[in-house]
Parts: sequence; C-alpha cells; structure tokens
Amino acid sequence: MRLHIAIDDTDSPDGMCTTYLGALLYRELSKVAEPVDLPRLIRLNPNIPYKTRGNGAVVMTFEADEETIPEIKDTVLSYVKELSDFEHENTNPGVVFLEGEVPDKLREFSLKALREHVTIGEAEKVARIVGAEYFKFKLGRGVIGSLAAIGYPLEKFTYELLAYREPENFGTPRRVNEESVFSADRWAYPFSYDNVDPYKRSVLITPHGKDPVLVGIRGVDRAKVLQVFEMVKFGEPFAFYQLYKTNQNTDDHLTPKKIGELRLYDSAVVRGRVASPYWERGRHVFFELEDETGKIRVAAFEPTKKFRNWVRKLLPGDEIIAAGGVKEHEGVLTLNLEKFYPVKLVSKVEYQKPRCPKCGGTMKSKGDYLKCKRCGYKMPKKLIAVEVPRDLERKIYEVPPDARKHLSRPLVLQGGEDKILELL
Ligand code: ATP
Repeated sequence: MRLHIAIDDTDSPDGMCTTYLGALLYRELSKVAEPVDLPRLIRLNPNIPYKTRGNGAVVMTFEADEETIPEIKDTVLSYVKELSDFEHENTNPGVVFLEGEVPDKLREFSLKALREHVTIGEAEKVARIVGAEYFKFKLGRGVIGSLAAIGYPLEKFTYELLAYREPENFGTPRRVNEESVFSADRWAYPFSYDNVDPYKRSVLITPHGKDPVLVGIRGVDRAKVLQVFEMVKFGEPFAFYQLYKTNQNTDDHLTPKKIGELRLYDSAVVRGRVASPYWERGRHVFFELEDETGKIRVAAFEPTKKFRNWVRKLLPGDEIIAAGGVKEHEGVLTLNLEKFYPVKLVSKVEYQKPRCPKCGGTMKSKGDYLKCKRCGYKMPKKLIAVEVPRDLERKIYEVPPDARKHLSRPLVLQGGEDKILELL
C-alpha cells in the first residue's frame, strides 16, 4: 500500500525546522517501509504572513505493508508531539496521511496553496473529500501545507542537501570554512548554485537562526550537490544530512495575471506601463504600474540592494513585464518585485544648453539669459532637447541571491526566463 505522509508548521524562529523533523522521520520510517523516492521539500505561497521562514512543508511516500501502517502513523505523530516547538504561538502543526494515488482534486488544492491564500477550513474540506486523514495540533494550520505538499505535482524540481548540527551546537555561530565554499562553488556552478554571493563575497549556504540546519546546498544535479558538500570544510561536526527533492527555484508560484485581478498574497507575472516616476521611502523604491484593468504599486525593497538601481531607471510610459508577490505595505496592495523585463522603453529627453553660436564655447545660465564663458556672448535662454541613452538593456533583471524567494528561478538556470517571456 502506498502511503503519503506530510508535516508542516512544527518550527518557530526560536528553534527547530520542519525539514529536520522530516529527515529524522524519513530515516526512522525507512526501517519499516520502502521509500518510493527522496523526501520532498515543498515551498508554498511565499507571501502568506504565517510563515516562519520560507513556507516549506515536508512530504514523503512509502510502500508499506498494511499491518505496519498504524505503527508508522503512531511514530509520525509521536515525533511531531515530541519535537515541535509548541511554546511559540505561531507554531500550529498539522500532519496528513493519504493512502493510495493522489486525486486530481488534491493537485488543484496544492496549486491554489502555492499561488493564493487558503483557509484551514478549505483544507479540511478537501481532506475529507479525498479521504486524507489529518491531525491538527493547536490551531492546526499546518494541515494546509501538509495537504498541499502531498498533492504537489513535482514536475519540475531541484535538489537541496540539508546537513544538521549536533544539538549542543544549536544557537551558536556556524563554523564553516568560507574559502572551501567558494572553491566548491567555482567547481560546481551553475549545477549547484546560490552557495555564495560573488559580489558581496559572502557565503549563502549557512542560515543564521537557532534552527538545526548547518548548511543547505542547492542544485539541479544531485551528484554535484553531494560533491559540493564533500568539498566544504566544517569546523564543527554535523549530526546527519538529507537530500531533498524540492520545488525551489522552479518559478512554479508565478501565474500570468491582469493587474485588476491581483489579490493579496498572489504571486503573479503582469505586463503593464509604468504610470508614475519612482519614489523612495526608507530606502525602498516604488512606482506604479497599470494595464487596461487597473493599477498597482510596485516595490523593490531595501534588501534587493543594487537591483533598485535598475528600477530607478524606469520612466513613466515604459512597458515592462514584472514578476512578484502581492503584499500589503502601509495599507496599500503592493507587488514585491522578483524580476522584470523592459519590453518597450520611452525615449528619455534632457534639455541642455546650446554651445555658443559665436565661438562654440560653453554657455552659463544667468537668469533668463545664457552667457558664453569664453567670449561673453549673451543670448536668451533657449534649451535644446537631446535624446539620451536609457541604460536599460533588453534583458531580464532579477534580485540578488540573498533577496531571492526560494521558489524564484535564478536566470542562470535553464528556463529561468520562461515565465516572463510567456507574456511577450
Ligand atoms: P520553515 O521554512 O522553517 O519550515 P515555514 O516558513 O515553512 O518554516 P511554517 O511554520 O510552516 O513556516 O508556517 C507556514 C504556515 O502557513 C503553515 O501553517 C502552512 O500550513 C500555512 N500555509 C501554507 N500555504 C498557505 C496558503 N497558501 N494559505 C494559507 N496558509 C498557508
């Protein structure tokens, strides 16, 4: 009998990680049942507010003898009870079991949880319809992610290897040799990516919180991911590691939409015209984008760093394709930019002083007059319109790796441009 097991919402910023619990369970359950594949780390809607970090749920599938299934379920529930961070008010674990094939109805629910907002009630209703067994702890919000993870059609996927720390090191700075990460990355890039930020010269594989993860190594080639892990030198022992299959870096979250259709927590790609000059507040850069159905505020927030310079070059009237998540910022619906592509740019005109008609010298403004710096010739101030280069190329611009959503596909990977180019 095929048995799908999913867990979600077991952790908090104070500790734990659902993948850690998942990895422990995968090891334990593999002693009594046959794993059908690697465990899967499924990232769902990145814009929902309840997430601890990256809105990830864990799912695994086994072929199990009918008589061992009750024992498997007991093991899962007792691990969740023992290891979840129940103290934290925002930790609301949910566990889901499904026997047999995954029905289409569950696939639909999963894609909704990836791209929109769903309620606990909706998840429970779907679970009952498809015959999934679910367990809620506290509010049990985790049933949403768990159910969606089981239904997820993982057609495109990447890998992430997660190595975990010894418990006595939880909460202390991670000891990983930075130079070894750079050299492993040089060797494996782009088959393994996001290991370092080459511009900031920083290491990206180590998280910074109190969670048990020592490093996370991503890639499209599982052998390269494992080899990067072997090449990295650690200054502390790791307890164990687990390779996950994941929908990270697939752009699966993005759906083409009209601006008028955008709702809070959607992830979408839209095409429109820049409707205002940019403005800045608190180092965030904003502008408005409109199409025939409506207008939305677009933001490149401070953590997107140099990406904001490209956004500042946009002018009213420019036609662009923009991808991102819809969130509320200061009470206003805002598209949080992940990528954009300038489709058609208006010409940029600057008004410049003419050269001196008498001697060709440089003119200086004197009130309503221009005066030649060289020969002193005076004339009424009449500026000339000059078209200047726009400094934006016909290419897709993306946020830097440390500001990128887990689901967002880096442009360096094959298919990283597809979701944008679909709207051309
Ligand atoms: P970590 O990445 O460390 O596992 P997390 O960022 O995944 O943490 P969770 O603690 O799992 O965060 O919290 C996310 C919560 O949001 C879960 O309860 C999950 O069921 C729920 N959720 C997931 N997708 C949606 C959605 N589309 N609409 C509403 N709730 C959702």
